[in-house]
Amino acid sequence: MTQLMSATAIADAARPAAIPRIPVLLVEDEADDAKWIEAILSQAREVHFDITHVEGLEQGLRALRDGDFQCVLLDLSLEEGEGLNALARARVAAATVPIIAMTSQDDEVLALEALRYGAQDYLVKRDPEPRLVHRTVRHAVERHRILADLAQARRQEHYLATHDSLTGLPNRLAYEEQLRRTLAYSSRSNKEVGVLFLDVDRFKNINDTLGHPAGDQLLRTVAERIRGVLRSSDMVARLGGDEFVLMLQDVKREHDPGRVCQKLIEAISAPCALEGSDYRVTASIGIALYPRDGLDPETLVRNADTAMYHAKSEGLNRFSHYSEAMNSVVSRRLELENGLRGAIEEEGFGLAYQPQIDLETGTLYGVEALLRWRGPDRTTVATPELIAIAEETGLIHPIGEWVMRTACNEGAAWNDPRGRGVKIGVNVSTRQLADPSFALVVARALRDSALPPDRLELEITESSVLQERGITLTTVRRIQDLGVRIAIDDFGTGYSALSALKHLSVDTIKLDRSFVSEIPKRSADMTITAGLIGIARELGVAVVAEGVENRAQRDVLLERGCTRMQGYLFARPSSAAELETQLSRGIPTWARALPAS
Ligand code: C2E
Ligand code: MG
Ligand code: MG
Repeated sequence: MTQLMSATAIADAARPAAIPRIPVLLVEDEADDAKWIEAILSQAREVHFDITHVEGLEQGLRALRDGDFQCVLLDLSLEEGEGLNALARARVAAATVPIIAMTSQDDEVLALEALRYGAQDYLVKRDPEPRLVHRTVRHAVERHRILADLAQARRQEHYLATHDSLTGLPNRLAYEEQLRRTLAYSSRSNKEVGVLFLDVDRFKNINDTLGHPAGDQLLRTVAERIRGVLRSSDMVARLGGDEFVLMLQDVKREHDPGRVCQKLIEAISAPCALEGSDYRVTASIGIALYPRDGLDPETLVRNADTAMYHAKSEGLNRFSHYSEAMNSVVSRRLELENGLRGAIEEEGFGLAYQPQIDLETGTLYGVEALLRWRGPDRTTVATPELIAIAEETGLIHPIGEWVMRTACNEGAAWNDPRGRGVKIGVNVSTRQLADPSFALVVARALRDSALPPDRLELEITESSVLQERGITLTTVRRIQDLGVRIAIDDFGTGYSALSALKHLSVDTIKLDRSFVSEIPKRSADMTITAGLIGIARELGVAVVAEGVENRAQRDVLLERGCTRMQGYLFARPSSAAELETQLSRGIPTWARALPAS
């Protein structure tokens, strides 16, 4: 039973249209009291109170549920006689709408009590001051609006503090909070929880070669694909960079997370359009299970991270379950890092040299210098692992300088059996090239060793050619100006094999071992290999095939027009002394591996 006072309608007509309207619910069973307040409210000038009047509490509660009121005026002495109880019920029905309690003149004690029950304010009926009534209602509405804005701002602030702005996913903070809650619940209900640590493989390559906007786009796509695989009760968060953590609730059987990982790996490796071309990226994932692999979020995430590293070291694009033994891998890494720092002071490194053979002439084309280091336990550390640590820690700069000086010094005196100086290949990592003073390091090594510049060939990777907005290119060109040769190493493995050639005139490309090792099994690789050799020939660039291990590979490469090779078939890397012995011999051991002519 909704009654609108005619006085409101009359006042309405006299008002300009733009003034704010405030919908108000009036719950009042005394007709005179209702008339009194409606008359007063209708006199307001700056706002227009849109009053809906009901006579009983039940009607009021219904109206509250259905309507959209900014304020409730509630009589505390309704016929239904519920007093403060009525107030409590109205609060429940409309938690966010401010309620003004109305009491009779002799009942201010009750009015004060009403504030404690959640009323915003109170009015004493028949108050002779209309402005006070207006103000009370408007203040209640205004205060409510401010509180609502504040709550909204807090929600916004909380959102920003708990979410990653790039992908819109929760961040580490939100993840750990949620994981903590889930773990507490799971410990009571004896359930298992899966924590997955996912890292995009070779993300840096994409970022470096296609630029940061493409990298960002890729991360958003990966985030979407992960979300697409998960159930609604699972959670994914971005930790930063290309790292994501996932939480699988209520893991039923032990291989469940493995199945999810398999789906994630498939989803992520679907082609992804970036900068107008399709790229395929992969990810590696580590799994830790609560409670088996850890009892708190920090331990679980750390162990899942360790398992992810393990998956990477097994060859990327796969997942791995955490095991205690993996921790020894991490501590070994720390040990290596410390050992490496010590080795710089003690010059504990060595170089091995691997011959490159020119099969057309049967002679040595050059040698590649490869870094060797015996770690803290005196066993040789795998060079790629060593280089990775050196790059991450920045130790690559002093180590690289040592390599450059040593290779030039040792190699300067070497001549092939025909008396021609041997070309020395030295590997240079991207971080070295990003250092503008690196050209100086090269110039000094040449000067001090008296090695002719054209006998030095720097092996750089495709991705480093396109990196760092040209710093690298400038460095490389400065080195070329010294007369030094440039080779592109591991050619064909990056995303930019051909554009590397466009940006830089190089002397040599080194065809990556992965193409050679599939010969003659996979026809796709054969086609690519033949194509790359053809392009290099067109450009007048020398091609050296890496990792040639058997005669079948040798013969196919020869057939395709690649005549320079390096690999175990001809010679393994050896010490400077051994190489000198070979060079002084009339017939070196690799002669056995040459094709019968
Ligand atoms: P890379 O430049 O592609 O060097 C060739 C790698 O293949 C060497 O591994 C070599 O021992 C190995 N290899 C040669 N022939 C064969 C073969 O027939 N079969 C197989 N399976 N492998 C073969 P190594 O010495 O472990 O070096 C690995 C990588 O570490 C190098 O790849 C290079 O990228 C990097 N590296 C080595 N020395 C240095 C250095 O002084 N500075 C920098 N920045 N990187 C270096
Ligand atoms: Mg190399
Ligand atoms: Mg290589």
